[in-house]
Amino acid sequence: MRDVLIEGATVVDGMGNDAAVMSVGIEAGRLHVGEAERGALARRRIDASGLVLCPGFVDVHTHFDAQVFWDPFLTPSSLHGVTTVVAGNCGFSIAPLDESDADYMMRLLARVEGIPLGALREGVPWNWSTFGEYLSAVERAGPALNFGAMVGHSALRRNVLGVESGTETLTPAAMATLRQSLRRALEAGAMGFSSSWGGAHFDGNGDPVPSRHADTAELIGLCEELAAFPGTQVEFIPTMHPFSEAHIDLMTKMSVAARSPLNWNVLITLNAEECAGKLAASDHAAAHGGRVVALSYPGPMQARVSLLSSAFDAIPGWSETMALAPDEIVRRLNDPVERERLRELAEQGDKATLGLTRFENLRVLDTYTDDTRATEGRLLGDLARERGAEPFDVLCDLATADIRTGFNRAPIGDDPASWKLRLESWQDPRVIMGASDAGAHIDMLSTFDYPVALLAMARERAAMPLPQLIRSLTDVPATLYGMRDMGRIEDGFRADVLLFDPGVIAPGRVSWQNDLPGGAGRLFSQPVGIEHVFVNGTEIASGGTLTGERPGRVLKAGIDTGPNF
Ligand SMILES: [Zn+2]
Repeated sequence: MRDVLIEGATVVDGMGNDAAVMSVGIEAGRLHVGEAERGALARRRIDASGLVLCPGFVDVHTHFDAQVFWDPFLTPSSLHGVTTVVAGNCGFSIAPLDESDADYMMRLLARVEGIPLGALREGVPWNWSTFGEYLSAVERAGPALNFGAMVGHSALRRNVLGVESGTETLTPAAMATLRQSLRRALEAGAMGFSSSWGGAHFDGNGDPVPSRHADTAELIGLCEELAAFPGTQVEFIPTMHPFSEAHIDLMTKMSVAARSPLNWNVLITLNAEECAGKLAASDHAAAHGGRVVALSYPGPMQARVSLLSSAFDAIPGWSETMALAPDEIVRRLNDPVERERLRELAEQGDKATLGLTRFENLRVLDTYTDDTRATEGRLLGDLARERGAEPFDVLCDLATADIRTGFNRAPIGDDPASWKLRLESWQDPRVIMGASDAGAHIDMLSTFDYPVALLAMARERAAMPLPQLIRSLTDVPATLYGMRDMGRIEDGFRADVLLFDPGVIAPGRVSWQNDLPGGAGRLFSQPVGIEHVFVNGTEIASGGTLTGERPGRVLKAGIDTGPNF
């Protein structure tokens, strides 16, 4: 007797095969696929005619490390059909952890990942020391989705070196301790190792995050530890600028040393030459016994920013000011000398900010005073012309009226040339779809919606057949990470599936929701067209509403993953 029998669905299996109408059974958390399922006995039947049944989406790049404790439903991803997440990316796991470093890690996460400090303080127990204890704490929190976590380099360095985690070259003894610490985490089931040299990554003090101080010998040495653990992964941010030969050589060496694939974050489809140069890293790795792939968000990027969010500190010279308390930021913006200094720094511009310093292109999104309300929806450039002021001054005036004031950046890459590159990237085997950063930048980004956004964009542009699209969201990432029995509609696989209406599926309107511990808010969206989401055979969302069930499993490398290199 099946627990659930899904009848008449158009099954897209995740492997790229043509869609086929059939019945699929679920029993004891596993899928049953085959002729015998038609009319099988079942406790519950779902008439899924007109709906697509596909594997749940596998989001390998999230920052749900902390959110899982106050929101084990892992919204909004769970509502968007994601059934498996990997946390601990970009070097920012929250284990291993010494009690004395909890405050540092909270402030680091608040700064670099845009997670409100109040939520981190009130919503997370911070009562583990080893990585294994952290995974046990996640298990007790009872996630709705399957949840794996990487070990972050910044967390490791802080744990081993304490306040000296900004040290450039480690002593042999410190390096040995760092390697041992990583090994322990991998023995406990960590999904791999993540690190960052990203120039926009600053800690709560405004200093570069610990992993940015690591040299190539340290990165390669740490990757060597992964070689003894098949079914693990390396994730790395080498730079946000074009790659040098040294970056490409380093990533190849890291993958070879780890005997694991390395995915780097993040490919932005804006400049053909830069994309080609970055994707060449995969070719170089393949020619030298490694495997390197790019992670990419499938659509144009649009971000909400405010002077409280973690965007403006990417402007060279601004990070120290942006790390200050809100009142102090307002005081500085009101000081003509300080304002002029910041304006000059911004004028020098920087590629890493992706146009953020073109203040005239920012649109006022949400305001919090009666005097500023009329500016909602207006471009700073237009407001500046009317006022005979600089766009930067209008920004400062609005932000000092209320520092919560939100601005919308123009979408990045919404032009024909970018779209051409983007559509090529969807089909490129060197590119992995994702880069959601779900759980991070929650006041700025709604990229948690990437699977649904990809399906909607592809439909509008008739860009790519559904079986290939679904494969890129399911079997491809699951196979990259070596996940066992996941990412496919196949007999015996885990029953992580969703049912959606292919004619209407869309990400839904993004809105602000004040529901975090400590009272802060975040961006949220409810997708259109997803009817049912199952994890390990249990329904977690029905008609867009959470069922309250939390059947997710904590994934452990070596148990839930196998050889992937
Ligand atoms: Zn990240």
